[in-house]
Amino acid sequence: MRSTVLVTGGAGFIGSQACRLLAEQGWSPVAFDNLSTGHRDALGEIPLVRGDVRDAPAVAAALDRYDASAIIHFAAKAYVGESVVQPADYWDNNVGGMIGLLAGARAAGVTRIVFSSTCATYGVPGRLPIRENDLQRPINPYGHTKLACEQMLRDHEVAYGTRHVALRYFNAAGADPWGRMGERHEPETHLIPLALRAASGQSGPLRIFGTDYDTPDGTCIRDYIHVHDLARAHLLALRHLEEEGESLALNLGSGRGSSVRDIVAAVETVTGRAVPVIEEARRPGDPPVLTADPTRAAESLGFRAEMSDLATILRHAAPWFGHEGRHEQAA
Ligand code: UDP
Repeated sequence: MRSTVLVTGGAGFIGSQACRLLAEQGWSPVAFDNLSTGHRDALGEIPLVRGDVRDAPAVAAALDRYDASAIIHFAAKAYVGESVVQPADYWDNNVGGMIGLLAGARAAGVTRIVFSSTCATYGVPGRLPIRENDLQRPINPYGHTKLACEQMLRDHEVAYGTRHVALRYFNAAGADPWGRMGERHEPETHLIPLALRAASGQSGPLRIFGTDYDTPDGTCIRDYIHVHDLARAHLLALRHLEEEGESLALNLGSGRGSSVRDIVAAVETVTGRAVPVIEEARRPGDPPVLTADPTRAAESLGFRAEMSDLATILRHAAPWFGHEGRHEQAA
């Protein structure tokens, strides 16, 4: 029998990719999304319940109605910069959302949760690459809220037996490898979409936030991971919980770091166009370098990033921004 999974934030960038992969791999995904930032058409034929995770009875009703046996919880606000100026929204949506979700799950008797956490929970790391046991001391409200959610999951496990896998994403990027879905945030704040837009002439120059960091070229270094690799990791985490595996917290990254200038150069190579840039001050809340040690995810789930080299990420993302790109052949 196919097991049903409620996917909160299922109409979003990563959630919709996970929904499609779940359906392809024999699960029955049901998206639960308030469509505040998600897109109904990203889901294709996958069912959608329009609802808000802060609404525990609505979560419980959706779990009951579809007889779901697990939850993948993507729904959240996820912009570092915005979280600094609108922290109340982040505590409300992310922490309030987790309270509602867990209350709904308890009411429906669902005890398996895969959760979207983030490398922003580490703050400015004391060593690189970052390992899961390293100190978590966030430097922005987004990271604070996600860390609070991780703690909430641990407390619920002790008291109520809820098992979870917290997946600490590094920088999600790319697009559906077969060209069905790309990154559509409004407003867009992420580096790779903005660099692709700048190269296509659809926008002004790319603003580089900070050129005086203590890194080889002075710009921030991040670990970019392809959205399809991220989606695959969620399926492995779900299977782990279905096989009664223990709760886990795992980094999801490629293990490689790329600077803002590396991204600009790679976009220029893949698109054949120049990326006009202007250098600006640092963006508040940005740590200089975040790179993952991906060993634990490999050991515990057998997960390895396979599409997360910059050339593949950009080849898949480029067509969504008016460039020629190349998708994979039909799956
Ligand atoms: N960045 C930049 N210009 C932009 C957007 C982002 O220089 O227009 C930098 C940002 O300061 C960070 C990196 O690119 O160092 C990745 O930022 P993004 O917003 O894509 O992801 P985040 O790391 O905040 O999740």
